[in-house]
Amino acid sequence: MRALILRRVGLLEQGTGGPVIVGPEDNGDVLRLQGFLRRNGHPFQRLDPADDGGARTLLEKYAARPEDLPIVLCPDGSMLRNPSEQQLARCIGLLQAIDPAKIYDVAIVGAGPAGLAAAVYAGSEGLSAIVLDCRSFGGQAGASARIENYLGFPTGISGMALMARAYNQAQKFGVEMAIPDEVKSLARGDGDFALNLASGGSLRSRAVIVATGARYRQLKLDNLSEFDGSCVHYWASPLEARLCKQQDVALVGAGNSAGQAAVYLSGHASKVWLLARRGLEATMSRYLIDRIAAQPNIEVLTGYEITALEGNGGVLRTVRWKNRDGEESAKSIAHLFLFIGAEPNTDWLAASGIRLCEKGFIAADGRHEGSPLDTSMPGVFAIGDVRSGSIKRVASAVGEGAAVVARIHRYLADAA
Ligand SMILES: Cc1cc2nc3c(=O)[nH]c(=O)nc-3n(C[C@H](O)[C@H](O)[C@H](O)COP(=O)(O)OP(=O)(O)OC[C@H]3O[C@@H](n4cnc5c(N)ncnc54)[C@H](O)[C@@H]3O)c2cc1C
Repeated sequence: MRALILRRVGLLEQGTGGPVIVGPEDNGDVLRLQGFLRRNGHPFQRLDPADDGGARTLLEKYAARPEDLPIVLCPDGSMLRNPSEQQLARCIGLLQAIDPAKIYDVAIVGAGPAGLAAAVYAGSEGLSAIVLDCRSFGGQAGASARIENYLGFPTGISGMALMARAYNQAQKFGVEMAIPDEVKSLARGDGDFALNLASGGSLRSRAVIVATGARYRQLKLDNLSEFDGSCVHYWASPLEARLCKQQDVALVGAGNSAGQAAVYLSGHASKVWLLARRGLEATMSRYLIDRIAAQPNIEVLTGYEITALEGNGGVLRTVRWKNRDGEESAKSIAHLFLFIGAEPNTDWLAASGIRLCEKGFIAADGRHEGSPLDTSMPGVFAIGDVRSGSIKRVASAVGEGAAVVARIHRYLADAA
């Protein structure tokens, strides 16, 4: 395990090994694929045809048209033209085919801290387990620049470092990973459950753990999705900070997460424009308001809202906003950060019959007194941020991940 981790860290630091992405630095799909590999802690190299003769030769050799960019050369020798994250993950062995005939003891949906903790305990206690995540391991915690309040790390630890350890630890105990793959729906069968996957397949398990956390609210702008994943961000970790170096960025939000992100980004970007509909006093902690005021390169625009995003090919170039009087201005901005709240990831459970609270979080099953992790469907358990009434913290998500496995042992023993 130590050798594996050190070798992986070495490859990441040197920027060697893994697939080779060939395409211009500011191409939206290059940013998308780089982001996917970085979030999954996977080494890669990037060659820019603008300054690399080898890259130009490769593009000529494969007769790559502009719409084929980036091309990706995988370690097995195959070449992909502007692949989806799933195609890339399959090619580099991150995503393996799921055996439709196999029935797992437990399927864990979501690889945030809750899901990974459940995976470590399930795997170490001999259950056959699989974890699915539609994006990458780590969830929201993986995007945190520094987690200061997780037990045992007095100087703090980056969310990515903490989650990468958990991901490796789960694999050490034999847990299978399917990332990226999204669970689209859940159905109860005769003694087991069927999970239908976005990749087209399905998988079966005796019990299901829902650890799908929360997703970030978006602004209602027609072309926002064009820049999502490349220039529109929902957290500010060292990955995003690197993208924004010496550039102006815009950040929308008035809560503590917006304040933390603004202060953090101000250490990397040349200027942070912080847009809030109302004053910060009602929603942000005093210490953050003071830090923002002390930071000369943060400008707070109260009573402003974003009206349009302009750019092309997934690359944002201009952000327009207006004030309460309707006066509009445009700024040259390549990265936009949104911190405007979160909603539970429970849409995929809509047809399952599992009871949700009025805000869409999973409601505990009232019949199991003292077991808040049970849902209204026996055999399906909910942990972490997706559960109504949960404490939205890494440590509590991890604790629930450990606790639910004891509950699953009991459920499987009763069902046998
Ligand atoms: C920027 C930031 C900083 C934070 N800092 C701290 C901190 O310092 N300390 C602290 O204690 N807490 C912090 N938090 C809160 C903490 O990260 C969350 O409480 C915690 O991550 C919740 O864990 P979770 O596993 O329940 O859900 P999440 O972390 O939300 O993970 C859910 C996972 O499920 C996946 N998923 C969703 N739907 C599906 C589906 N249908 N199919 C497959 N996969 C799916 C998602 O891709 C995601 O990876 C922070 C949060 C953020 C955003």
